[in-house]
Amino acid sequence: MGKKIDGILHMVGGAGETSYASNSKFPALAYLITGLLTSSQEKVLHMAKPILEEAIGGVYMSLLPERMAVVDLGCSSGPTTLEVVSEVLDVIDKLRRSLGRQEIPEILFFLNDLPGNDFNHVFRSLGDYKRKVEEEKGNLLVPYYVVGVPGSFYGRLFPCQSVHFFNASSCLNWLSQVPEGEQGVLLNNKNIYIAETSPQEVVKAYQDQRQRDWSEFLRCRHAELSYGARMVLSFVGRKGSYPPSGDMGYLFSLLAEALSALVSQGIIEEDKLVTFNLPYYSPSMEEVKAVIHGEDLFDLEQAQIFETNWDPFDDSDDDSAAFDSIVSGKNVAGYVRASFQTLIAEHFGDAILDELFSIYAANVSRHLLQQKCKHYVFVISLKKKEEKKKGADGDGAAAW
Ligand code: SAH
Repeated sequence: MGKKIDGILHMVGGAGETSYASNSKFPALAYLITGLLTSSQEKVLHMAKPILEEAIGGVYMSLLPERMAVVDLGCSSGPTTLEVVSEVLDVIDKLRRSLGRQEIPEILFFLNDLPGNDFNHVFRSLGDYKRKVEEEKGNLLVPYYVVGVPGSFYGRLFPCQSVHFFNASSCLNWLSQVPEGEQGVLLNNKNIYIAETSPQEVVKAYQDQRQRDWSEFLRCRHAELSYGARMVLSFVGRKGSYPPSGDMGYLFSLLAEALSALVSQGIIEEDKLVTFNLPYYSPSMEEVKAVIHGEDLFDLEQAQIFETNWDPFDDSDDDSAAFDSIVSGKNVAGYVRASFQTLIAEHFGDAILDELFSIYAANVSRHLLQQKCKHYVFVISLKKKEEKKKGADGDGAAAW
């Protein structure tokens, strides 16, 4: 049985220098929604925002529920999840008023993540957030309630047909476990992700694990969504069909290189590096469509790809534009550390972290000087397929 990430993975909590909250200006969908960010993110925002608005509005208009259950999957402890809350409240309020409806729907938000997540930090930020929107909107605010739901989204989290809308930003890249080969642990030539020099068995194990995870994810969400309900998923994808291709591969190769440097310095053992693989996968759009069509549970309403620079603070469009590669290297190392440090510390011990990420920042700077790398953010919108309702369960209204 491969190593499950449920009990291990969590982003760095709190609000400190290495925390997810301080380093998550990663182009997650909700960041693209805020409009408060760098111009490159604002540009992507304008393109991505309609997808979320259309999906939430579509659910509200078709069902006109009195109570709406909205879930942010993999919410983490950064501010993104609050932006999802804001966006949903705004869209519903605008639509309700444009329809001239007196009935104000009540919204129940479920914030989900693995049990190790710093939910306390999220709920502490929520208090301030709530006071701020109450001041801004006064009695125009749609009433809402917030609940935390610890657990893996690769299993069931909610009762049948109880949810109207799922959002999942930047979390479906995580696999449920480290991929395994026939003999157990995959030996990956000191790569920590799929790379040009990865054995074929490694590539296949990653692809199979992602296929199993996404199939399970789609089946669970299908059971939990009420009819006419939708979800929007955003994640980092790759443009090429060949799995080792693309900039995500470089991001992790440079981290593998930093780990190899620590092996050369005798700080970590080679055996440790040879047996370390990240439970992460960056799919191509063909792979995503294949699993959606294979399961045949959802209609793919929208699928778009947006580009941002590796360094989310670098908003230049022009690949040859001057930028500070040292600063960019540190920015990239910051969010990679906030996301992956718990898994690295669990395998190699936490004494290596500072040295590892300072070498990594230098590797990234060097690489960015040769090539300005991009993330490809895939945003897809799915609608639960209509099917014959069975027996008493399911009248399109959530149970809450
Ligand atoms: N949605 C946030 C956080 C993205 S970071 C944003 O857009 O900024 C990814 C989050 O997904 C992490 O907090 C991680 O703990 C969570 N995650 C990864 N696998 C998960 C799983 N199987 N179930 C629930 N949460 C998961």
